[in-house]
Amino acid sequence: MEKIYNYIDGDVAAPAEDRWLDVFEPATGQAYARAPDSSADDLKKAMSAAQSAFDPWAATSAAERGRVLNRLANLVEERAAEFAQAESVDTGKPLRLAESVDIPRVAANLRFYAGAAEHFASESHAMGQDAINYTLREPLGVVACISPWNLPLYLLSWKIAPALAAGNTVIAKPSELTPMTAYLFSRLLSRANVPPGVLNIVHGRGAGVGQALVDQTEIAAISFTGGTSTGKQIAKSTAGRFKKLSLEMGGKNPTVVFADCDWDRTLDQTLRAAFTNQGEVCLCGSRILVQNEVYERFREDFVARAKQLVVGDPLVNGSDQGALISAAHRDKVLDCIQLAQDEGGEVLCGGTPVNLPGRCAEGWFVAPTVIEGLPAQCRTNQEEIFGPVVTIMPFDDEDEAIALSNQSTYGLAASIWGSDVTRCLRVARRIEAGLVWVNTWMMRDLRTPMGGMKQSGMGREGGFESMRFFTEPKNVCVRYD
Ligand code: NDP
Repeated sequence: MEKIYNYIDGDVAAPAEDRWLDVFEPATGQAYARAPDSSADDLKKAMSAAQSAFDPWAATSAAERGRVLNRLANLVEERAAEFAQAESVDTGKPLRLAESVDIPRVAANLRFYAGAAEHFASESHAMGQDAINYTLREPLGVVACISPWNLPLYLLSWKIAPALAAGNTVIAKPSELTPMTAYLFSRLLSRANVPPGVLNIVHGRGAGVGQALVDQTEIAAISFTGGTSTGKQIAKSTAGRFKKLSLEMGGKNPTVVFADCDWDRTLDQTLRAAFTNQGEVCLCGSRILVQNEVYERFREDFVARAKQLVVGDPLVNGSDQGALISAAHRDKVLDCIQLAQDEGGEVLCGGTPVNLPGRCAEGWFVAPTVIEGLPAQCRTNQEEIFGPVVTIMPFDDEDEAIALSNQSTYGLAASIWGSDVTRCLRVARRIEAGLVWVNTWMMRDLRTPMGGMKQSGMGREGGFESMRFFTEPKNVCVRYD
């Protein structure tokens, strides 16, 4: 079985205690690699390397940091096919998705922050003729980047690129479920002339080395993307030490369909919003709200389209949906579907595991599932499922659509579909979410703030927001006379 190693102080390293975790291919249900189950000793080495590397890296010019990130982007692009294949095997996502979204966006993140390193500027505030303030933006030190399994290298790069661009050194902890592409990436670091210790990647369990990383007193900031309960745990663990935190967490995002929407486009895109990556995207629209006049027609067309989605081997061209990340997650999703039925919901399509022949016979597949007939406040409509399961609910008018959208403890994203743009913009303003799309979904401009309100997030990443997060502002006031 292939072995995955940590990357510490410029070199690959086996875990200090020689403990390893099996890494599974979700499409086959079989272990195919082993990854370090790192311990405090590995972390200690990574911390020491990152601390030693900090001063020289912080003193490196922004242009040089940008060059390093651009070299990394080039290396990823040269190996895009290898990375996409590895991401598909590791996560169960369709290869086509990894090729068209995950890996191109890794390169885009690296390139964007290569530019940001040079373009990021701080402010000055003149006080008439008397004085001037200027604000320094200094790197923080050693920062922790903790990322989830659904978009493994994409979300890892989204954190490490701005952290490095701003002059910090990094200890990254990818999800134990999907360590492969972070490992492949670590093998490129020396070729891109990333100095030893500047980026350290430590693999292992969240509750083990992940928690130990959060508990390191010397860590200056933590950028975390993952579930809300883990985010709460991190916030609790760090509260007494006043760590700088950025938490990107779960969602239960509404998709609001008005009767005057562009029908075909709305069907295409709401289907995409529901089932991309098997519904394992924090931004997926899992509560579809449809205006009464078109509810029945939409339900019929949407269900017909969902039934046509091909659940299949992620490596085979033509599979729209691959496998869920783990057997435990597949079981959780099936339990959620059972709960929806217990709550009185009617399963309109899907609702069952999908058994595939051949190499995927033991894989963790679930059919795209649409459920109706549930009230907004039930658990199915309140709790994140993070799988290929959506509910569909009718609404009368704009006010009801907004009320239903906001009846959630989450506030990550929403999409609104309609041709009355003024109305869409009114709704966008009143919806409680960090990201709202009008007549589109998951269209991302890297300059914009990304993150959620309520239990979906704390702080924002993206563009200069990330550069601000990864730097400490210091104001200097100078009097002229
Ligand atoms: P988890 O919260 O389980 O894990 C996220 C990361 O945190 C993993 O690397 C995990 O390691 C690690 N971790 C777990 N426990 C701890 C701990 N106590 N201390 C430090 N680190 C820890 O989330 P998932 O990986 O299951 O990802 C799915 C979730 O992520 C969903 O809720 C989804 O909505 C959310 N998400 C949010 C996004 C956003 O931008 N708002 C984007 C993408 C996903 P390990 O896996 O090894 O346990």
